[in-house]
Amino acid sequence: MKEFDLFVIGAGSGGVRASRLAANLGKTVAVAEQEYLGGTCVNVGCVPKKLFYYGSHLQEDFALANSFGWTLSAEQFSWQTLCANKDREIERLNNVYKGLLESSGVTLVEGAARFVDNHTVEVGGTQYRAKNILIASGSQPYLPDIPGNEHVITSRDVFYLDKLPSKIIVVGGGYIAVEFASIFNGLGVETELDYRGELFLRGFDNEVRAVVADEMVKKGVTIRFNSHVDRIEKLGNAQKKITYRDGSMRVVDEVLYATGREPYTDLLSLENTQVELADNGAIRVFDNFQTSASSIYAIGDVIDRMQLTPVALAEASMLIAHLFGHKNQVMDYEGIPTAVFSNPNIGTVGLTEEQAKEQFETVDVYRSRFTPMKRSLSGGDEKTFMKMIVDRGSDKVLGLHMVGDDAGEIVQGMAVALKAGATKSVFDSTMGIHPTTAEEFVTMRTPG
Ligand code: NDP
Repeated sequence: MKEFDLFVIGAGSGGVRASRLAANLGKTVAVAEQEYLGGTCVNVGCVPKKLFYYGSHLQEDFALANSFGWTLSAEQFSWQTLCANKDREIERLNNVYKGLLESSGVTLVEGAARFVDNHTVEVGGTQYRAKNILIASGSQPYLPDIPGNEHVITSRDVFYLDKLPSKIIVVGGGYIAVEFASIFNGLGVETELDYRGELFLRGFDNEVRAVVADEMVKKGVTIRFNSHVDRIEKLGNAQKKITYRDGSMRVVDEVLYATGREPYTDLLSLENTQVELADNGAIRVFDNFQTSASSIYAIGDVIDRMQLTPVALAEASMLIAHLFGHKNQVMDYEGIPTAVFSNPNIGTVGLTEEQAKEQFETVDVYRSRFTPMKRSLSGGDEKTFMKMIVDRGSDKVLGLHMVGDDAGEIVQGMAVALKAGATKSVFDSTMGIHPTTAEEFVTMRTPG
């Protein structure tokens, strides 16, 4: 039987990082992958989503071009071209990942891995033994159990649609729902977003949530809050009929469900190990990402701490430093910046106003809402929104939030300042770069 220092299940962001780092330290490493190298992020997540986002956002630039004196000929969009180019780029990335594993000396095992015991896995009838096994199997879309859910598509299918629908309903109110509602709307699809609650993007700053809803509606997305799907039927012409609990109905070409992601452990035969699951199906981990079985570790979406690629990468680095570098660090999940590639973008780091007011005695809130310069000639009514939350006692900046062009790019830089514990006076004494949107964060003078 083949023996390894480390056997990794899943060649997504976390699994590949862990495999390479361990192999670069001279350890014998194998990684099993049943589908594609790079996992969700590269194949059916962050990367193709961002490419689609760029594609859909271009139509706004065409519209703005007139105000800068350009006359464009009639624009035509080809979904097939976008998808083919996207597929080519992803194939390139798959090969990059393959090359990285090969050059590090990691053995790639193609197929689904299942546990035989705490030290043994089986892939395609071959057994592999390892001192340490890492589960980095990620997550999969979660679909609520409603009649007709077999007729909907998820964020896995949306990247492989043969043709662009004319009308779509997106169900959900998290990252994926607002991103894809924006993408389809930008590509000219009649788009409706249905969310079960009062206001989507639960967990984000309340004002940010309201501003994004406002701006998305201005851009043409129909948003229906407090909307509860009862059932979905497929009609003879392949269209889908959604019936809601209040009796209302809609007929559309596609229904995209973006109702969260669940840890992916389906094929692992965890019953052959001592690994324990939490109530939500995530693998329970303790210090240093160790599961209840001392030889088995888990990182990334499958442990359901934060389903973000950079988090999985950081967890992988920390785990390998612990296993083979004998360094024990504790992962810091505070102040992780994040962006939502909706249109407009959201960028956020630190506490929301609501969280800050719960945790601190006196909080000052600085905000700014203005027409971005790029849109000043076109007379459009899109606004950029920026907000900073400060603890009056210590002057420390607790949170920064932005809705507008390049919010993710801007907040990434600001996140370094927050990580360093920057105070409001540090922001005030930082020179702005003029004229930019980002300078607004260093020129906010009056709270309220
Ligand atoms: P989220 O957890 O962000 O949102 C799920 C949404 O679905 C919520 O609005 C939730 O409502 C709603 N929902 C849950 N169950 C039901 C149900 N039974 N019926 C109707 N609605 C339901 O999940 P996503 O799928 O959007 O994304 C998964 C994760 O992927 C994110 O949490 C994020 O970590 C990651 N991601 C990150 C991106 C980025 O960094 N830009 C992009 C895409 C994904 P409620 O709020 O009421 O619970």
